[in-house]
Amino acid sequence: MKITQIETIPVQVPINQERAVRGGRGAHTVSPFVLLRVHTDTELIGLGEVSCTPIWSGEDQMTAIHCIHTYLGPQLIGNDPTEVERLTARMNRVLAGNVFTKAGIEMALWDLVGKVAGLPLYRIFGGPVRDEVPTKFSVSGLEPAQAARIAAWAVEQGFRTMKVKVGIEPDQDVARVRAVRAAVGPDVRLGVDANGGWSPRVAIQTIRRLGEFGIYFAEQPVAPLDVTWMADVRRQVPVPLMADESLYTLQDAMALIRVGAADILSIYIGKGGGIGAGRKVAALAEAAGLTCTVGSNLELGVASAAMIHLAMASPGIGAEEFPCDILGPFFYESDVLAEPLPIKAGSARPLERPGLGVELDDALVARYRVD
Ligand SMILES: [Mg+2]
Repeated sequence: MKITQIETIPVQVPINQERAVRGGRGAHTVSPFVLLRVHTDTELIGLGEVSCTPIWSGEDQMTAIHCIHTYLGPQLIGNDPTEVERLTARMNRVLAGNVFTKAGIEMALWDLVGKVAGLPLYRIFGGPVRDEVPTKFSVSGLEPAQAARIAAWAVEQGFRTMKVKVGIEPDQDVARVRAVRAAVGPDVRLGVDANGGWSPRVAIQTIRRLGEFGIYFAEQPVAPLDVTWMADVRRQVPVPLMADESLYTLQDAMALIRVGAADILSIYIGKGGGIGAGRKVAALAEAAGLTCTVGSNLELGVASAAMIHLAMASPGIGAEEFPCDILGPFFYESDVLAEPLPIKAGSARPLERPGLGVELDDALVARYRVD
């Protein structure tokens, strides 16, 4: 089997603006994503999604499409798509960075591996270590009453774990978490995500103040500039720390582990350039006695499926304790899939079909296409 063409489809699905996530790094109000169809000389097509946002990785639809057609595609066309490791290395040799773009292709290659084998991806990755993937909700960094209203809505939907965006202004951050705790009651597990918005000193002070509201993790308290900042914070607060913006590559994970900067690593399919990189980070965390969760850039259905397969088969991802952010249906007006993923409030499952298990709905793709 050989790759013959990589089709790029820029899409933009509207986000519910009331729930759109605002945090210490700005707001995620549009998703300039690219859907991919990796065509082969057989009837099989691999699906991918570049879930890129400029404020996150510096990629958008224009850069993704340009990089695929100019640099990555020529390395792949004519090759066997099931040689995922070899083709991933080739992509990394010809183009620095652009990890979410590479990840979109890599997941399409895995989709083809699964389709050739006739197995859902999580079964190719070793089979299920859980029956479903626990998920949590993400409460936007709005003023307290609004954040509390969204949190109460999420509880009504069925969520029992959520994180609140902080890192904007310490007093407001504390007021927001207080209001959310009051709205959701004592039994909902609450974490906070500062998106690197605090200085080390403010992080230590604010996390200590938040102890009163029973938060059970604090995500990326400080900027990802120097890995020792987070290690310093971690030594001085009683709450487990999660690394998100500090963790892209396998080497980032190793550096975090070496200096003792984190208790939990947040894996995205995009950050390491694919599902394979995510599986390696999860294994490294396992070896270091840490655990992982799966974080989100508000993926649509194709990349959400990739996240679910990864979490289903990875013992290094402790989704029961630190539920994953697989949330697309709660933020977008629609998805682009022919059959929606079984994503509920609090849990997600894969579709039991080969590869990623998803198919695009051509009418929906046409509706959200933006070129
Ligand atoms: Mg985060």
